[in-house]
Amino acid sequence: MGAGPELSIQEWKSGFCPDVPQTIINDDGGMPSFRIVHRHSSKECAAAYAAWKGFDGMLRGHPTASSCRWGDHQIWWDLDADNGAEALRRLPRYVSDRAVAVRIGEVVIP
Ligand SMILES: [Zn+2]
Repeated sequence: MGAGPELSIQEWKSGFCPDVPQTIINDDGGMPSFRIVHRHSSKECAAAYAAWKGFDGMLRGHPTASSCRWGDHQIWWDLDADNGAEALRRLPRYVSDRAVAVRIGEVVIP
């Protein structure tokens, strides 16, 4: 028995990229920002939206980007949280089980 489900936020970490611009905008030392990337299949689409019913969360009732209408079935949220696990807890379990939280910040493209 493990200590619990492993969060998928580690899966996409592939190491430091030396070419990332070092100029970061608005890094004021405040709460980190994350982009939640959620993906489901076309068969899971109705369930992914229905999962929010009865879930008390700050993300409900606000517009966010989604590609479902065009058949790709991804939804993205940008939010601030202490860490990736905390960011994923803002989603219903059905949705967070199919999501990763990617820490993001603004950079200047050279
Ligand atoms: Zn969908």
